[in-house]
Amino acid sequence: MAHLADFNTEKKYKATVKKTERLTPRDTEEVREIQLEVEPGFECQVDQSFGVLVRTSGEFGKTSHHRLYSVADLPAKENGKQLITMLVKRCSYVDDFSGELYQGVASNYLCDRKPGDEVTITGPFELPFVVPEDKNSNLILIGMGTGIAPFRAFVKNIYRNVKDWKGRIRLFYGARSGLELLYLNDKDGDLTNYYDEETFEAFHALSPRPHWSDPIALDKAIEARAAEIVEMLSQANTHIYVAGYEKIRDMLDKAFSNILGSKEKWETRKAELVAGKKWAEVIY
Ligand SMILES: Cc1cc2nc3c(=O)[nH]c(=O)nc-3n(C[C@H](O)[C@H](O)[C@H](O)COP(=O)(O)OP(=O)(O)OC[C@H]3O[C@@H](n4cnc5c(N)ncnc54)[C@H](O)[C@@H]3O)c2cc1C
Repeated sequence: MAHLADFNTEKKYKATVKKTERLTPRDTEEVREIQLEVEPGFECQVDQSFGVLVRTSGEFGKTSHHRLYSVADLPAKENGKQLITMLVKRCSYVDDFSGELYQGVASNYLCDRKPGDEVTITGPFELPFVVPEDKNSNLILIGMGTGIAPFRAFVKNIYRNVKDWKGRIRLFYGARSGLELLYLNDKDGDLTNYYDEETFEAFHALSPRPHWSDPIALDKAIEARAAEIVEMLSQANTHIYVAGYEKIRDMLDKAFSNILGSKEKWETRKAELVAGKKWAEVIY
């Protein structure tokens, strides 16, 4: 994937916060669903991301801070303006040297916006999650935390716009708190209005304790479905798409090595997926 500095920030668009809602409970990490209404001229699709530009104080000569966010729902149109949805996790980190707590610039800026506030956005930019042409293709989608965002839009797009999907879609989603999953779990919820019970199943993995440093048992959720995953991986038309935080990579390597029987077997199968353009990832 390209470096962030390579993304074009020349063309900027004005967006207004239409809705902002916290999806997670108060005493856990904050993930918000934010809907933006963008000025005419900006058009993005489900398989894309967009940038958010935050003006900064000019420390080290830097006057703006640019970060990317996945389109988290099917874009809609209202009064000629595009509505786009994003899921944002409020990020902070402790500096190893000073021990001080720093707040992530863009995520805190976004989580602090109120309805009616203006935000500057860039893009749209491509994500690597392409809908395969063959509708018999199987898809294993794995999202950790806000990594669910692109897949939520992707799955809706397949069942609503692409239609007649014959392959199996298995969505594995790991989060730290149960409530973060509300919109996925709820039978009347959003995603359930679109998916097809014959071909789609979503599996949730939760952390045993919903706090920042707790592990998410995504690997356990995958290993619990080992038989089906192994069978899907034996088919040439299976794709694996992954999105989420850095630690997901090691976790998946271990889980897939376990279910296939060895690290070497997984490395060989993964290399085939990558060579066949059937593996795609967005890791941040
Ligand atoms: C294609 C793509 C799609 C994305 N989609 C989403 C999405 O849908 N939702 C979402 O919430 N995020 C998404 N991200 C991540 C997002 O772009 C930001 O990286 C994230 O919000 C943090 O940005 P920030 O400006 O708040 O933090 P920054 O100010 O950039 O820095 C904070 C983060 O940087 C790291 N860091 C920086 N300096 C140090 C240090 N000294 N010590 C330790 N750690 C340090 C830490 O991980 C920390 O959390 C996506 C990223 C990409 C590339």
